[in-house]
Amino acid sequence: MPAQASTQPIRLRTPVVELPGIGPRRARLFERLDIHTVSDLIRHLPHRYEHQHAEGAIGDLPMNAVGSARGTIMGCRVVAGRTRARFEATLQDHHDTLNLVWFNATFLRNRIHPGMRIRVQGKTRAFGGYPQMVNPRWEPLPDQQHEPTAHDDRLRPVYPATEALSSEAIEKVIAETLPEVLDQLVDPLPQQLVRERAMPTLKRAYLMAHLPRAEDDPPVARRRLGYNELLLLQLGIEIKRRYNADRLEAPALRCSQAIDQHIRQRFPFKLTPAQDHVIQQLTADLRQSQPMNRLLQGDVGAGKTSVALYALLLATANRRQGALMAPTELLAEQHFRSISAMLQETNVRLALLTGRLRAAPRRQMLQNIAAGEVDIVIATQALLTESVRFHDLAVVVIDEQHRFGVLQRATIRKHSDAQKSQSLETEVDPVKTLNKYPIPDPDESHPSPQPPAKRSSPHYLVMTATPIPRSLGLTVFGDLDISTITSLPPGRTPVITRVVGQDKADEVYQYLAGRVAGGEQAYVVVPAIDPTGGDKPSPLKNVTVHEKLLRDKYFQNHPVAAVHGRLNAPERDEIMRRFRDGEIAVLVATTVIEVGVDVPNATLMVVEHAERFGLAQLHQLRGRIGRGAHQKKSLCVFIAEPATPDATQRMRAIAGTTDGFKIAEHDFQIRGMGEFFGTRQHGRLPLRVAKIPEDLPLLQLARRDAKAIVNKDPTLNAPERKRLRKVLQQHYGETLGLIDVG
Ligand code: ADP
Ligand code: MG
Repeated sequence: MPAQASTQPIRLRTPVVELPGIGPRRARLFERLDIHTVSDLIRHLPHRYEHQHAEGAIGDLPMNAVGSARGTIMGCRVVAGRTRARFEATLQDHHDTLNLVWFNATFLRNRIHPGMRIRVQGKTRAFGGYPQMVNPRWEPLPDQQHEPTAHDDRLRPVYPATEALSSEAIEKVIAETLPEVLDQLVDPLPQQLVRERAMPTLKRAYLMAHLPRAEDDPPVARRRLGYNELLLLQLGIEIKRRYNADRLEAPALRCSQAIDQHIRQRFPFKLTPAQDHVIQQLTADLRQSQPMNRLLQGDVGAGKTSVALYALLLATANRRQGALMAPTELLAEQHFRSISAMLQETNVRLALLTGRLRAAPRRQMLQNIAAGEVDIVIATQALLTESVRFHDLAVVVIDEQHRFGVLQRATIRKHSDAQKSQSLETEVDPVKTLNKYPIPDPDESHPSPQPPAKRSSPHYLVMTATPIPRSLGLTVFGDLDISTITSLPPGRTPVITRVVGQDKADEVYQYLAGRVAGGEQAYVVVPAIDPTGGDKPSPLKNVTVHEKLLRDKYFQNHPVAAVHGRLNAPERDEIMRRFRDGEIAVLVATTVIEVGVDVPNATLMVVEHAERFGLAQLHQLRGRIGRGAHQKKSLCVFIAEPATPDATQRMRAIAGTTDGFKIAEHDFQIRGMGEFFGTRQHGRLPLRVAKIPEDLPLLQLARRDAKAIVNKDPTLNAPERKRLRKVLQQHYGETLGLIDVG
């Protein structure tokens, strides 16, 4: 026990190490749980609760262990012992009697009387054949008949703990600290809102979470604390959205019926109703001078590119420019080919900007783009954002952003030096993006006679083939509008999927060899590049060994090649190009082929160790085949030895459906949000309490409330929202961590 009790009052910002009884060593243990300050401490919520049973009958008291019981005092007396006096009493309930002894406590004769009901707690021992408690803790009970009920059960919080720092130890520190700082908690939410939502105050919520009195306390507390987080997140999103809407201006595009018909003539097919529906949503956006910010999702092969082309051609029809960004050079080329084919008889000026372009033609092309002599530019994102200046860019399409971790949004910046030219700049991370937009502070803004000049921005369309579960869409992508192509174009024959064990591998490759001999092409996906593992070779198949095996044993007469992530991009592209052109029959690969390269003649796929891949990944891989209109049915074989229930579930799911949306939801359910984002994700959501997708209804509530608040009061300037604004500002300024503690 430290001699000089700390005279400093405990504050929310007080480091844990300054709390009584916590030295540097224990403080480090708390740090491992990400608890640095008192504020972190009280936001460390129990992950579950245990019932601690109400003190029951005397007969139920455990011997030689601590227990508690209640009853009526039948008799009591002071006994003068040889060395010290003691106070003795007998406690009785309906069946049993318990002797109580307190040493050196004769003052108790003024406190404890016969007929009084009390609760005692202590260790019970047998003494002279009778149960006895020595120096028990005690408290009086109300007089009326009071039998123990379920209400007397104590819920004991169980905290996320470590081996060195137990839940009990955490509980003790929290129970001691919480009351000290309770009055410092500032509830950022307007009280009226809290009342309307029938939620407890912030103080109550923390008490209910850490020191619950009733069964219902923890869920009520969780709901309130989760709501706080979600509301702040949604407010951030909403404010940013409004900020953009107020400050950015895009060209409003005209789209008459004549233009519509003209564009449609370019497609060699009739657009599906699903595509039409999305096009309607797009044109409604593009007509506005507020920049479109729309995510287009649709399964692999759903026809997203055609929809994107529609938007690009709308820009052309308005005598403005469009840009299509692909994730790789190869995909850029692929888009260029198919779009060139569709625009053959038009005078739309198309440019493909790739790294393979030599300096002189490249310079010329950049000049043309800047001069407005190119209508649609197709390039990789890297190239476009690095070097290109546009004359009058109206629509930007970003393709295949199916990894959330690198979801990139682009913003446009008008360079002051070049009058009418624009260049692109991308920013990553949705959460960081949020941080970039300051919350307008009305105290600082001087009333100006002129509204601020608007920056010009193109309209944005981001495409993804990995459907985003609805709940996730509302959180991370809350400021994007989402369009979905819900069905595939007609005439597709779905890929046949089989899941088999290792023992069938030989049979599978024999069969594959037969079909490859008939002119089809195949992908074989393995998890590793090289044999690894030193003395103990890894049991995983790898590209190097497997390619040789396939070449020597099954495909002697057909070209086999390998592609993986350790090749550089041009090497990789070269091999994919040869595969696309039919010069390679069997391609052994890692998951690098996941991103949407179109090889219509590839109808076969084998995935080795399929149990090691995530669901969404398996679906993406499978999407590489079945992309042409074929007589032959595409076949995907997953060779798997699922060893966990999760893996078994994944295999069942992938074999059971080809619907990417079902798979995404399923994936999300199995893995939860953290995993879904993957470890590379920088933009982890700042959620500690709320859980997605479980808290979807709460999220929807928060979203509605946030919208209503921002509609009413865009700068959160009303007195009852001042605190909310302050917390949001802190929240934005720093790490987004501090959510509800002032
Ligand atoms: P995504 O980009 O969604 O994966 P694409 O736009 O590349 O899909 O379309 C996949 C294939 O389907 C392309 O070959 C395209 O020409 C074709 N396609 C697109 N829309 C239709 C349609 N309405 N009817 C028939 N075929 C279509
Ligand atoms: Mg595509």
